[in-house]
Amino acid sequence: MELYRLGIAEARSAIDKGEISPEELTDSVLGRIRTVEEKIRAYVSITREKALAQAKHAEGKKGNQALHGIPIAIKDNICTEGVRTTCSSKILENFVPPYESTVTQKLTEQGYVLIGKTNLDEFAMGSSTENSAFAPTRNPWDITRVPGGSSGGSAAAVAADMCIAALGSDTGGSIRQPASFCGVVGLKPTYGRVSRYGLVAFASSLDQIGPVTKNVKDAAILLNIISGHDLCDSTSANVPVPDFTAPLGKDIKGLKIGIPKEYFIAGMDKEVEESVKQAINKLESLGAISVEISLPHTEYAIAAYYILATSEASSNLARYDGVKYGLRIEGDDLIDMYMKTRQKGFGAEVKRRIILGTYALSSGYYDAYYKKAQQVRTLIRQDLERVFEKVDVIITPTTPSPAFKIGEKTDDPLHMYLADIFTISVNLAGVPGISIPCGFTSENLPVGLQIIGKHFDEEAVLKIAYAYEQATDWHKRKPEI
Ligand code: GLN
Repeated sequence: MELYRLGIAEARSAIDKGEISPEELTDSVLGRIRTVEEKIRAYVSITREKALAQAKHAEGKKGNQALHGIPIAIKDNICTEGVRTTCSSKILENFVPPYESTVTQKLTEQGYVLIGKTNLDEFAMGSSTENSAFAPTRNPWDITRVPGGSSGGSAAAVAADMCIAALGSDTGGSIRQPASFCGVVGLKPTYGRVSRYGLVAFASSLDQIGPVTKNVKDAAILLNIISGHDLCDSTSANVPVPDFTAPLGKDIKGLKIGIPKEYFIAGMDKEVEESVKQAINKLESLGAISVEISLPHTEYAIAAYYILATSEASSNLARYDGVKYGLRIEGDDLIDMYMKTRQKGFGAEVKRRIILGTYALSSGYYDAYYKKAQQVRTLIRQDLERVFEKVDVIITPTTPSPAFKIGEKTDDPLHMYLADIFTISVNLAGVPGISIPCGFTSENLPVGLQIIGKHFDEEAVLKIAYAYEQATDWHKRKPEI
C-alpha cells in the first residue's frame, strides 16, 4: 500500500515498529499532493520545506508522542506561527500570525508534521468552499462537484489522501457537511471542549475546532490531543478530558438511538434517505434500540442561525480595518481608508453577512431579530435536552443531498443556506456531532450519517460511530482521481 493512504493509528504503529520513517511518510504525502492537488485544489499553502524539516527532526527519534512524524493539514483559519493564515480572504492574504493557536501548539507538542493549510469558504462562511477568494476546491469523488464547506479543503485533502488527517472548524456544519460530501469522518466537539484560541473568529458562540479523518479511531486520537481547558479561551470548559479511544470497540447493545421525525423531510434525496435508514437497521442489528423522537423547533434553526451567526460575524469582522491586519488600501482620510480596504478585501458573501448582521443588531431591530433568534436558540437547546433524557444519541442524515455541482447554488444564497438544515441545531445547542460514511448514491457520491450526543458525551458518539464503521466497509472506499 502507498504510505499516503495510511491513517494516524496505522502510520503511528508503522513508524513505531521502524517499518517506515517520518521522512518516507512525509515524502509520500508530498508526492501525492504533487500528483492530485492540481485537480482538487485543497490547499491554500503547502508547507513543503517546513514539513520536510519537521519530518527530518522526527527521524530516528523514538516517538512517545502521539503524532510523531505524522503529516496533518490545518484549515487556513487556524493560526500557525510564522505560516501564512489567510482565511481564504484577500484581506488576510499576507497575514502571518506571530503566535500559534492552542490546537496547533498541542499538535506540535505531539510531534506532528504541518503539511499545509487548507482552503475554506472565506472566513468559514459557506457550504461549498466556492466562497474562497483564491479558488474553489473540488470534490475528489467527482471534480465537477463541491467538496462541501466551509472546511472543504480539509475534507478533500483527507479524502484524496493528501494528508494523514486534518483539522477543520464548525460553526453551523462546516466539519460535518464536507466530511459527508467527501466520504470521510468529521467530528464537531461539544462547545467548550476544544480551545478556540488562534481560530479566526466567525461566530464566537458557535465556532468549534475538530478533526477530519479517514476513520473514527483517528478522530478519537486527535480529539484526545486537542481537547482541554485553556486559560487563553474563556469559553473553553474546565471539565475532565477522558480517553476518547477507550469506548471504541465496546458493545452498543441496549444503547438508545433517537430518530427525529423532522429530519426525514419531503424533498430529501431518496438515496440519502435510504442509506441512512439502512444504517439505522445496521445499528439495530448491533443491539441499539431506536426510538422515534421529535425536535419540533428544527424548522426555525436555519433562520435563527443566520441571524445569530451574521450578528456575531459583523462584530468580529470589524477588526479588519486596514490598520491591524493584512490588506490596506490608502484613502483620502482614515474613514475612506477603512471603506476602501473593506470594500476590496472582503468577498460578496462576507459583505452580505456583515450587512445582515449589522442590521439585525441595530437599534429598533435588535428585539425583532437578534433577541428573537436567541429565544429560538433556547427552544432548540431545550428540544435536545428533553430528548436526551430518553435517548443516548440522535441519528440523522448529515445533509439532505449528496455533493452538488460547482456553481449550482452560488446565485441563490438561501438555497445554499438550506444545505445546513441538519447540522445547525447541533451548534445552536452546543452539543457534539460526528459525520461518518454510510453509503454511496448510484452516481458514486458518498452519503454521511450524523450522530449527535449530549453535552460533553463525545464518548457515546464515538462508540456508536466506531461500532457502525467496524460493521461496514464504506470508509475503505477511495475515490479515483
Ligand atoms: N454553512 C454554514 C455557514 O455558511 C456553516 C459554516 C461553518 O460551519 N463555518 O455559515
